[in-house]
Amino acid sequence: MDHNHHRRLKTAALALTVAATSQVLAFPGVATASTSSQATSSVTQVQQATTGAAGTTTAMNKGLATNNRIYRTGRLARVNCSPGALPAGSTNAYRRFLTRVTDCLNRAWGTQFRKAGMPFSKPRLRIITRKVGNACGGWATGAAGFYCSADRTMYMLITKNDLRQPFPLGIARLMAHEYGHHVQNISKIWTYYTAAQARAGKAQRLQLSRNSELQAECFSSVFISTQQGSSLFTDAEWDYTVDWFRKNGAKTWPQNDHGRGPTQAAWMTRGYNSGSPGACNTWAASPRTTT
Ligand SMILES: [Zn+2]
Repeated sequence: MDHNHHRRLKTAALALTVAATSQVLAFPGVATASTSSQATSSVTQVQQATTGAAGTTTAMNKGLATNNRIYRTGRLARVNCSPGALPAGSTNAYRRFLTRVTDCLNRAWGTQFRKAGMPFSKPRLRIITRKVGNACGGWATGAAGFYCSADRTMYMLITKNDLRQPFPLGIARLMAHEYGHHVQNISKIWTYYTAAQARAGKAQRLQLSRNSELQAECFSSVFISTQQGSSLFTDAEWDYTVDWFRKNGAKTWPQNDHGRGPTQAAWMTRGYNSGSPGACNTWAASPRTTT
């Protein structure tokens, strides 16, 4: 392993730490919400889910999560994605990269929703250089991005550190994870999730959160797998990333709301190896594989 490669991998750990941290905000209704603003937004979201147009009966339909049509669409469409280089220190290049990866995600998942015969809409992308207020409440310290279901927006923060040492795979993986939450939202998997959260006790809430987070990570890996062989990443970088999550993926979370490190790594590997959203049905999986 040459020096540059080694340095890049060290950078990866950094980027992934930030990415992992950001996941606390990826869904504001999780039991780990640690600030008052998040707690408030969690209540708001639950109210939206239980009193919204979908209605309680639809909302509590577990089949939306366990038997969603998105699982029967085969391999995720392999789109020609050229996000370009990510030179250190260029905010413009960083913005272009985020915009292009989002465009790739839109094309891949748009095709999948068409195959499923389900309505598709793109998320909004807001690229910011400092934390901003949003419809889901505040930002967690260290968060690099999150998806807010209330305004269907992916907020991506460019930090000084990301700018100094950009790691393309780490950034793409994070975006694809947040996009995974958008997929859960518009496919109505989250309609069940939010309604079930509102009725669950603490242990069950953590299990539901794990199902949601592990699925978003699996969806992310499905997308990343379609970019194998592209200039986005090397096999060694992917292996390193999975291994990093195996060892460190759970460290950020004092409660087990994202799954243990090996569990996260297992769903990443599963998504990557199959390339199909159908491999990411955490809701029908044995609880043993989602702990
Ligand atoms: Zn998440």
